[in-house]
Amino acid sequence: MTTISNQKIVILITIDCLRTDHLKSYGYSRNIAPNQESFVKKGVTFLNAIANGPETASSFSSIFSSVLPYLNGGFSPLPNQKLTFPQILNENNVYCYGIHSNPNLGKFFNYHRGFNDFIEGINFNVQLGLEKNKHHLRNFRSRIFNEILSKLFNLKFFDKISNKLMNLDFLRNKIIQINRMGFTASFVVKKVINFLKNYNLSRPLFIWAHFMDVHWPYKPPSKNLFKFTNKYFSSQEKEFLLNKVFWNPKDYINTERLIDLIDLYDGEMNYTDDNLVKLFKFLEKRFKKNCFVIITSDHGEGFYEHQFLNHGGYVYDELLKVPLFIVEIGRNYAPKKVKELVQLIDIGPTILDYFNIDIPDFFQGKSLFPLMEDKSLIRKKYVISESYRKNGRFIREIEKGFKIFSIRKQNWKYIFNEEEKKEYLFDLTEDPDEKVNLIEKNPGIFKEFREIKNKHFQEITKSDEMSKITHAIKGIDYKTFKI
Ligand SMILES: [Zn+2]
Repeated sequence: MTTISNQKIVILITIDCLRTDHLKSYGYSRNIAPNQESFVKKGVTFLNAIANGPETASSFSSIFSSVLPYLNGGFSPLPNQKLTFPQILNENNVYCYGIHSNPNLGKFFNYHRGFNDFIEGINFNVQLGLEKNKHHLRNFRSRIFNEILSKLFNLKFFDKISNKLMNLDFLRNKIIQINRMGFTASFVVKKVINFLKNYNLSRPLFIWAHFMDVHWPYKPPSKNLFKFTNKYFSSQEKEFLLNKVFWNPKDYINTERLIDLIDLYDGEMNYTDDNLVKLFKFLEKRFKKNCFVIITSDHGEGFYEHQFLNHGGYVYDELLKVPLFIVEIGRNYAPKKVKELVQLIDIGPTILDYFNIDIPDFFQGKSLFPLMEDKSLIRKKYVISESYRKNGRFIREIEKGFKIFSIRKQNWKYIFNEEEKKEYLFDLTEDPDEKVNLIEKNPGIFKEFREIKNKHFQEITKSDEMSKITHAIKGIDYKTFKI
């Protein structure tokens, strides 16, 4: 009989849109996530963790596949030939449980592969259908009913009731059609705790819990907001900020409105933190060892540092720098801050390594264990982040989009913006805000980055072919591969 302590558990907590510099661990003046801050002090903080894409689709494709977004067939949907680390875990007898409510991360986009349980809060199919058929609610009464429910679900005090309703599968599918954000932090935490209470731990376990509260629309409960501001926001003011200002910043933004948006955003992280503490407490009580917790974000959020709000379409550091913490319950690494450059493609290899599973050669990331154990990593010393854009916004259809791409190496960062036909070179030590383009002053460094870029772009087609060959050799048909 297997005992609890013999089975390893990994919990990957991803908080959508969480900016590094809004956390005290990274120097923020406010402590918006006090519970998370005290939990992560028991482990390792990675001070320079970089997302490989500036929005959910590109970033998560690299987290799950440990391959850069442009390579091996692109990233949205995640192509079949991009093997994900949950698939590998599953093949190695690790039970995989996932819960999320981001429309970019569903079964529709191939993220369910490898999961034994995959709980989706929002379904892209449904959302697409709704967008296409805006007239589907012809019946006036049902339109009003949906409108009222939609408003109620956007209020956090409605949480308890919505959580109860969401637990009923047949109702959940109805509810997610009108509740844009799907699951709240409270719902996700409760689901994970309930799952863990009922799991018999006869197999090692991987849990992925994704939180959407910090993502637009920021509507924190007042009690979380009032920790940072005395200002009361009427529902009209919130509507104005979140719909008019947020989506048309060039027309509406000013200092006061920007501060309001940041207060609302911070309030959402505080609300998330209020719920995460329940999970942290549960884990520490239930597991005395072998429980490995990773906390990160897929990307940050722009607050008009470069004349945009939101995320996607740009590769500045307000989007690419992400928090990354690793805590192993029962194992005391001396609390540590790692300065070395790491990237989100490293998460999959680290998790495989923890379970003593071989890391495939085609994974581009590296296990972070050597860094946690004061050794160094042998790897290329630069990080690539990439996606597609059109009119300054993320675009899913590659053939209609333009490349937006960056390379970071030591104190230098290079950006290639295909749509604007512009390139940039920044010295991040002297100019962390990425304002002064140094291309003309540093032709040698610029040339070096261009060569890395050109080589990488040439690899796109080649890597697609290579991945097919590798998989064919291994005898696995990834077109039909299912768990
Ligand atoms: Zn995201």
